[in-house]
Amino acid sequence: MLETQIREIRDVLDMASATALVHAFAKQDREIPAEANRGAEMIAEALRAKGIPVTVHQPEIFLSLPGPASVVLSDGTQLRAKPPAFTLSCPQGIEGELVYMAEAGGGTPLDRNPASASSLECARGKIAVIEGFALPNFIAGLEAVGAIGAIAVNPGVDIHNGTVSTIWGTPELSDLSRLPKIPSVAVNRIDGDTLIAMAANGARVTLKTELETGWFPQNLPVVEIPAANGNPDFVLLHGHYDSWGEGVGDNGTGNACMLAVAEALWALRGKLQRGVRLAWWPGHSTGRYAGSAWFADTFARDLDKHCVAHINCDSPGCRWAVSYETVQCLAEAEPYVQRVVETVTGQQAKGIRPQRNSDYTFSNIGVTGLFNSSSMMTAEDRAARGYYVVGGCGGNIAWHTENDTIEVADFDILRTDAELYATTVYGLATAELLPFDWRLTAAEFRVSILKAQTSVGGDFDFNPSLEALDILQRALDAFYTSVEAGRIAPAEASKTIQALARIMVPVNFVRGPRFTHDPALNTPPLPGIADASLWPDLAENVRGFLRAQLMRGQNRLVDALENAAALLPKS
Ligand SMILES: [Zn+2]
Repeated sequence: MLETQIREIRDVLDMASATALVHAFAKQDREIPAEANRGAEMIAEALRAKGIPVTVHQPEIFLSLPGPASVVLSDGTQLRAKPPAFTLSCPQGIEGELVYMAEAGGGTPLDRNPASASSLECARGKIAVIEGFALPNFIAGLEAVGAIGAIAVNPGVDIHNGTVSTIWGTPELSDLSRLPKIPSVAVNRIDGDTLIAMAANGARVTLKTELETGWFPQNLPVVEIPAANGNPDFVLLHGHYDSWGEGVGDNGTGNACMLAVAEALWALRGKLQRGVRLAWWPGHSTGRYAGSAWFADTFARDLDKHCVAHINCDSPGCRWAVSYETVQCLAEAEPYVQRVVETVTGQQAKGIRPQRNSDYTFSNIGVTGLFNSSSMMTAEDRAARGYYVVGGCGGNIAWHTENDTIEVADFDILRTDAELYATTVYGLATAELLPFDWRLTAAEFRVSILKAQTSVGGDFDFNPSLEALDILQRALDAFYTSVEAGRIAPAEASKTIQALARIMVPVNFVRGPRFTHDPALNTPPLPGIADASLWPDLAENVRGFLRAQLMRGQNRLVDALENAAALLPKS
């Protein structure tokens, strides 16, 4: 059925103002708050020029703006460095002995839990040198063991910008204690190798960082295209417009992609059975998703009642990024994402679990999410170019550096990505039945529960979870059979599918309550019971703590499974 949608999209999709915006953004800083606000005005102006109404909100959000940084050697030599957002500002410098964390090195340790790693103990009282990017979980782990500073050795000749806050969005009072309390910087590979060699001799260096932290009014443009039939439900397409510097591939191309989608869907608004909202976020890079978190907080009740799906648009349309092999999405949305990708590109996509980053801000409320990035370079191409893995720009290592300039954009790929996003949103806004299959999510839950059971063996009983899941799976099977047989009207079935998200998404993606924001740290599937994997390695006298945790986690899970089953017709 998506053939119709893609044809209608291709008939109206016009990349002219999108292309112009990419070129304009190549010359427009969107990191400094005043300059970022100008960037948002440029998006709003482009929309108004097409007659599309846009509301520009202006929340005050909490930002951390990196300034200069350096690593000063004992002979006075200064090494180039960048301070990640939210690291401690320490312009007077902090002096200490270097220690190279060899066992912690390599790659980008996104999923490690360094706070519990005894191997980090040697960092106490020292400046730790690690390999990879300056990532929040790692720096937080080093801080927890008493490191006085940290230096991340980036893999290449360039130094990547980043952030080290684990707090998602503007902090609450109770979050403030989690703001980083030690200075950290990123250096490039060459200088990093020098520091690693010096660490072997117990050399001392001084870390200097300078950041400005505070409250800044930032523009947040939102387009609301109402459904033709007055349906208050809506699809949310979003992406950040603030960037490191002029950030063309991250995320100027994404901003332009959304502009093209807005124009296309505005032209097709007479056909929408659900509304469409498009939001361009500030505060992604320097506010740790402060813009999208403000939106989630401010419009929480509306999102809860009416948002059927959210789609994140980050780093599309970058050179050499021709692969749609893997696409981040929630399990229930995978078949739909696969259909869209195949219809638009002819490629077979595999859905993968979204990581907790990139303005995936709506999991606590419980909204099905589709896409994070879209087109990526193939692994073979990356290897052939000697590139390492980065988090955006379609895999171009210009990501989060001064090199993210106009050369990174590819306008043919951008058109394909615009078709992809437009078709995804249009398909959802015109589908009679929301195309999300909760049987797939339930099947994923079973895998997670069985994995937890295997970890604990006979020491903890996950049968209550499995029994509740059995009941839910039978009810889901009966529900989808009835829907397919036409015994439940699509509008009613869609309401149920939407309601299931409010239960099934939080229990699988977040630890905290709804209407809050979990920390910006990766979360395993069914986080309430996931720590069962730690059981085999725990000492006997510690296992009681984990048992208590698993009992609470299982209670939460069973409650969710029962509540989900209660939404379905009695079979
Ligand atoms: Zn981005």
